[in-house]
This record gives sequence, C-alpha cells and structure tokens, in this order.
Amino acid sequence: MITKDIEKALEVLKQGKLVAIPTETVYGLAGNACNETAITSIFALKQRPTTNPLIVHIKSIKDLEKVSENIPYKAYILAEHFWPGPLTLILPKKPEVSSLITAGNDTVAVRVPDHPMTIELLNKLDFPLVAPSANPYGSISPTSPKHVAGYFDSELEVILDGGACRIGIESTIVGFEKEEVIVYRLGSLLLDEIETLVGPVKLKNSTSANPQAPGMQEKHYAPNKQSYLTENVDQFLTLNSLSNAGVISFQSEILSPRISQQIVLSPKGDLKEASRNLYKAMHQLDLSSVDCIVFESMPKVGLGRTINDKLNRATTKKQ
Ligand code: AMP
Ligand code: MG
Repeated sequence: MITKDIEKALEVLKQGKLVAIPTETVYGLAGNACNETAITSIFALKQRPTTNPLIVHIKSIKDLEKVSENIPYKAYILAEHFWPGPLTLILPKKPEVSSLITAGNDTVAVRVPDHPMTIELLNKLDFPLVAPSANPYGSISPTSPKHVAGYFDSELEVILDGGACRIGIESTIVGFEKEEVIVYRLGSLLLDEIETLVGPVKLKNSTSANPQAPGMQEKHYAPNKQSYLTENVDQFLTLNSLSNAGVISFQSEILSPRISQQIVLSPKGDLKEASRNLYKAMHQLDLSSVDCIVFESMPKVGLGRTINDKLNRATTKKQ
C-alpha cells in the first residue's frame, strides 16, 4: 500500500519484512541489513540472482566503520564531500556484514541516501537497511511510488510515498584497487566531479570482463516491449520499416508518420531534467499501445554518457 506513514514503515521493518523507500536516485526495496530472512526475501521478491550483491544504506558517514574496515583515505574524501548523495562506495566489509548481502564478496557496497523520509527512518532504526532498486530483476527502475505499486502492490505492506525521485537514475558505484579509484557503474554523480577531488579514475563499466560489478549485466533496465537505441530515429524507423513506434527523444520532437507517441525528455536540453524523466517515460510507453520503443541517444557528455550506458543495456542492438 502507498502511504506516508513512517511509523508503520518502522514497524514493518522491525518485523523483518520489506518496505519500499524513496531515495533521490530510485525507489529502494529495503529490509533490515542485520536480518538474513529479510535479506533473503529481497532476492526472492526481485527474483534477483544471489550472486548480485545489495547496497547497504546508512544514516551518516559516522556509521561507515560499522560495516566496513581498512577504508582508503580517498573513500573518506569522497564520502565527506558527496554524502548524503548518489555515490555508492565499495569497501572491505566487516566480518559481521552478512555474506548474503555481498554475494560472498569480501567487499560491501554502502551509501547515505539523500531523502528526508528515508533518513528519518534510518535515524529511528538501530540497524542499517539493505536496498536494491524496487523492481523485478532486469526491469525498469521505479522513480515513483506508483511504479513500485505496479510491480509489488500485493506483496508490500508499505510503499513509502516520498514523491517522484529528484535525480531519477541510479548512484555511481566507486571502488578502490591499490591506489586507484575505479568506477564500476556510471550513475548520476559525474566522473568529473569525482576526479576533481581524487584525481583520475578508471572506468570498469563493462559486463563480461568484470564479474566483480554485477550491476553491469548487459540486459538491464529493460522495457517489456522491443526497444532500440539510435542516433537518428527517423532514419532508423524507415530503414527497419517500423511503425506505431513510441519514441523517447532528448530535446526536440522528431517528426515521422511512423511515430504514434513521443516523449521529449527535456525541451530545454538539460541532461539533469532528462535523467529525472527517463524511467517515467519508459514506464509510460511500455504500458501504452505502441509496438516498439525507440530511444534517441543522448549527447555523449556528462550525464548523457550515463543515460546512454543505461539505454544500451535496455535495448536490443540493431542498426
Ligand atoms: P541496484 O540493484 O540497482 O540497487 O544495484 C546494486 C548494485 O550495487 C549491484 O548490482 C552491484 O553492481 C553493486 N554492488 C553491490 N555490492 C557490490 C560489491 N561488493 N562489489 C561490486 N559491486 C557491488
Ligand atoms: Mg537495480
């Protein structure tokens, strides 16, 4: 049920059951990080392979040493600067962190989310929350309580209503190898912003070569409808003889009789606005009567790179 009742959410979480929580990135499917029944039920509800680890959400940097140890100084620099915010750090785990959370890895993913309701929850609980995104494995991430209800309404007693997500795409995942800073998943925090603080970073944002970052499955964030990514939508539709298409474009409306529905992500050409609107647009067209979804690729800078990376995983390659 969608509700703003934080007390009810606390009660459910203390019983070892799951609650959908708002964050600035996407909605999370949260449970008690210290309760293995809760952790197991997150994997079961999402139908997520247990080899794909979860993110631990803590209330402030002060709790970092409760879940991780041997923390590199660059991790502190980043955490102090960007938390609460869309930065997930991969750090050596404390022995007491369940290996169910970390999928058997000796590292744990941790972040402080930036949403007042979820911070209030964390402040009133004496355990951290584990929370992956609140969607079935591989499907479109939820950025509103309604999206979560579309997936899990009958399974969740509480979908905490914190409104539409302010950022709307996932956190950036950063780890450390020796002295190097590694970015495992492109997200809403930009590489430039990280590099300003800690120097050059290395991008290991791929799938097959990199089993250590399991968020990087090639097929992810995917609509049910056949979906494509292209730089030139009009030409793509003609070349592939597609009609009754749903189109998600960046800044300008694309004119073609082959398009039945179109969502322009940001008429003013702002990539932050485009990020915020992306998953909502995907949900909308996936539920509509179009036969396929065609995405126009974003400018290849900043957040545009992050969005293109997600769209690559959401679509079938065809040109
Ligand atoms: P999500 O399900 O969208 O919240 O994403 C959680 C993601 O965090 C996972 O899919 C992994 O990519 C990443 N992650 C969590 N723990 C680890 C870890 N120990 N090492 C590498 N990546 C991790
Ligand atoms: Mg996810």
